[in-house]
Amino acid sequence: MDYQTLAELLFPEVIETPEEVEKRFPPRNLPEGAKVTRFAPSPTGFIHLGGIYGAAIDERLAHQSGGVFYLRIEDTDAKREVEGAAEALILTLAEYGLVFDEGAVIGEDGKITDRGDYGPYKQSQRGPIYRVFAKKLVSEGKAYPVFTTGEELEKLNAVDKKAEVKNKVWTEETAALQKEKMKKEREFTLEEVKAHLVRGDRFVLRILADGNGERTLKTADLVRGTLELPENDEDFVLLKSDGIPTYHFAHAVDDHLMGTTHVIRGEEWLPSLPKHLQLFRYLGFRPPKYLHTAQIMKLDENGNKKKLSKRDMGLDMKDYRRNGYAPECVSEYIMTLLNSNYDEWRLKNPDLPYTDFPFSIKKMSNSGCLLDFPKLTDVSKNILSRMSAEEVYEKLLAWAKEFDQPFAQTLESDPAKAKAILAIGRGGKKPRKDLATWKDAKPYMSFFYDEYFKVEDSYPDAFPKEDIAAVLRAFLESYDDADGADVWFEKIRVIASSLGYAADMKEYKANPDAFRGSVADVSMFLRVAVTGRINSPDLYTVMQIIGKKSTSERIEGMMKALA
Ligand code: GLU
Repeated sequence: MDYQTLAELLFPEVIETPEEVEKRFPPRNLPEGAKVTRFAPSPTGFIHLGGIYGAAIDERLAHQSGGVFYLRIEDTDAKREVEGAAEALILTLAEYGLVFDEGAVIGEDGKITDRGDYGPYKQSQRGPIYRVFAKKLVSEGKAYPVFTTGEELEKLNAVDKKAEVKNKVWTEETAALQKEKMKKEREFTLEEVKAHLVRGDRFVLRILADGNGERTLKTADLVRGTLELPENDEDFVLLKSDGIPTYHFAHAVDDHLMGTTHVIRGEEWLPSLPKHLQLFRYLGFRPPKYLHTAQIMKLDENGNKKKLSKRDMGLDMKDYRRNGYAPECVSEYIMTLLNSNYDEWRLKNPDLPYTDFPFSIKKMSNSGCLLDFPKLTDVSKNILSRMSAEEVYEKLLAWAKEFDQPFAQTLESDPAKAKAILAIGRGGKKPRKDLATWKDAKPYMSFFYDEYFKVEDSYPDAFPKEDIAAVLRAFLESYDDADGADVWFEKIRVIASSLGYAADMKEYKANPDAFRGSVADVSMFLRVAVTGRINSPDLYTVMQIIGKKSTSERIEGMMKALA
């Protein structure tokens, strides 16, 4: 077969040579050891935790090494594309600190623009580039067309999809049939090709596989180590009948031309690796280093590991948003998933940004990671407890505006009050950890606001109502909101003593039978009346924030209820 003629017949419009294309994509001028990584989503509008997890590895590897982290939109499957999804994705990733240097980036004006010398960064715009390399493969006898028409074509495309994209397990019978068919399709003459072209028939372009499925190929994955995979003996599709490349072909061409050094992608691509290595070899490209990430798992009711499904909370980033997880907390949590020594580092460096942590591939586990909500809650509480009240207020307000407008109005009606509430117990060595998510804020803060206030807890039965009522009355008689904390507390001690409650805890503990209770109980009587709860932040501060009017009204209300 005269492959050169075949190539001309199939791709007459392609005049650029591979060498000319290579010149347009020269090697990157980067310092030694700099890594070039990419996030390469299909714009389906769905961003899941595994995606953020993988992108976080990309981002850390690139930026830690002075390299480049770029975005490539893999939009070759128009059916799956959702309008505006790419923009939404870029903005969501940016919330998680994943900001691209190249590809589609957020410009200084906040708008999304294309940046970089290795574009276009949308695969749908790279058609001519793929065809240059397709033509080269045909001219070297490494790829061949399979002509089909109408229905037959659809069937063929469907089979290719199943076999390659989803890596479906084939029965031996279908595999044998497929092989038989493949062998036949390899045989054709130039005359036949010409006749098809004259009729306007379309073709898919397949690789001419030189592998032997009985033999294994040794290769390496950065986390999994040495891998032994069967060689590829399947003539997989490079270009679909509409001229659009498959993932395999686009991956090889793009990652080569764009200078990707490390490909981080889901483990569902692992079985396709022999195809990719074959393709890189055919094209004369040096393959990148690969890291295949394991699926994120959860524990089911029986304590068994299970893959997260689309229906599970914890997969779709929209769930995190709606449930009020701050992106900062999720990013921090992801770091704990990525490197097991992260927690230790964080303990030693409570105030450093997570980007200061020396992330290392070597410290990644290859057993797949488990989504652990109690851990996420813990991590989140720590992160939120270290933010300033001002920052918490701004972020909480933004969340509430989207998901709880009435609460947003409450917050905005008196920003100083909201910030004062959020400032309680903040800033010290052991800050309070009331919030794990923005959703937690309303239940935590609600009692400060009359419109939400209700008595949630009741007094322990051990205390006579008369005692409680007497404390509330005495407090109201002496209450002055101008008192400082010391004077305020001294007054409570006096009330305690006057009613047979120990004013001093030591005294009480030494001889509990001599008292009706202690000053702690007296404070609790007031606390339940004013906050509606047995537990609350420092009561003096609470009263200062609520103000004299509401404090008095609540105490009076409780006295009525007890009467
Ligand atoms: N578009 C592919 C996907 O969404 C990207 C895989 C890769 O990163 O190479 O699965």
